[in-house]
Amino acid sequence: MFRIPLTAALLLVAASAARADDAAPYSAIDQAAAGIEDQVIAWRRDIHQHPELGNREFRTSGMVADHLRALGIEVREKVAHTGVVGVLKGGKPGKVVALRADMDALPVTEQTGLPFASKETAVYNGKETGVMHACGHDTHVAILMGVAEILAGMRDDLAGTVKFIFQPAEEGPPEDEDGGARMMVAEGALADPRPDAIFGLHVGPRDYKTIGYASGPLLSSSDRMRIHVVGKQTHGASPWRGIDPVVVAAQIIMGLQTIHSRQIDVREPHVISVGMVQGGVRFNIIPDDVELIGTVRTQNEAVRAEVHERIVRTAQKIAESAGATAEVTFSQPIPVTVNDPGLTEKMLPTLQRVAGKENVQPTATVMGYDDFSYFAQEVPGLFFFLGTRAPDMPASEAAPNHSPLFVVDESALVLGVRALANLTVDFLNGTSETERAAAN
Ligand SMILES: [Zn+2]
Ligand SMILES: [Zn+2]
Repeated sequence: MFRIPLTAALLLVAASAARADDAAPYSAIDQAAAGIEDQVIAWRRDIHQHPELGNREFRTSGMVADHLRALGIEVREKVAHTGVVGVLKGGKPGKVVALRADMDALPVTEQTGLPFASKETAVYNGKETGVMHACGHDTHVAILMGVAEILAGMRDDLAGTVKFIFQPAEEGPPEDEDGGARMMVAEGALADPRPDAIFGLHVGPRDYKTIGYASGPLLSSSDRMRIHVVGKQTHGASPWRGIDPVVVAAQIIMGLQTIHSRQIDVREPHVISVGMVQGGVRFNIIPDDVELIGTVRTQNEAVRAEVHERIVRTAQKIAESAGATAEVTFSQPIPVTVNDPGLTEKMLPTLQRVAGKENVQPTATVMGYDDFSYFAQEVPGLFFFLGTRAPDMPASEAAPNHSPLFVVDESALVLGVRALANLTVDFLNGTSETERAAAN
């Protein structure tokens, strides 16, 4: 119902703006974004109220596929389980831009008290839990649905092709399942046609309507670390009759801390955290084995390899000193998210025009991760943060992503729509603001 008036509005705006100056496509996009804002917020609330865990985004991906199809966009479904890839061919030949939104929610019980708060539950790793869009992926989906509608409305004027990638399981697939960006790449999400660039964003409690970016690394690598310490079970009253894996595990936890402080260049940010310590069934029995599970973050692939090597050595040698063994495995690998410096430089003027120059700020690399990195390893990528903290909310009081209290100010979402739509059109036209200025 929105398509016909939108197209008409675009033509009108484009025609009037073309007479006034040469900024026609930008004002048409911004006008269309303003027109679709309420719809984007409505989609977001709908998705927020019906969150789905990784690889289970059936309702969300169905909604996305229906929407893209209604816009006349070619749709491929079930990519990496529940992923959707849409291809919009413009009226003119040109390059290919991919835009990515992640669709999955988290095993978090929502406490925001919002009228559209989630009441969904699911079984996650064998435990009943609430399900919540605590990372804001609901907004990413709604924003990209809005961008698809705007770009489909101007397809005749598009010089190239736009690929819409709606990705499952960004937060990681359930145990014993594959999924996420890596699997989408493996299943051809970036093939036929292959994008020349990919853009994506992430909401969070940055200052309202600001954009944070980095040229180079923006987000960290992540690996799940498992250390299985095997000793020899014995009575708690006579430890010398066995090998105590609890004490060895404790030594390993402390030993891992010396990797950061003593072994790796301290100017290279990295974190090793043990989040789970599991072992034993009774107070007076020294168990056979203990399992340590944690996460490793780095901001550089060479450092990542070095940290892994030292974790293995530290764990094995400490275990050996006690006559125990330690087996170290890394899984759920996520590379560092690196923004292509050339693409970042080229597109920065677009972000500055859309958000206002003072609202676009370089950001220090964060220790969080996003598996957007798998796409950005294949084609030049630009990923950025969108500030969705309400203007009257002090930064110190804002709940971070993954909190049961995480909220976004929905009036900031339209900036995300404008940013992605303008990046796409500018890239396809090959006319970043700098080039336009240089040409004048
Ligand atoms: Zn997250
Ligand atoms: Zn996220």
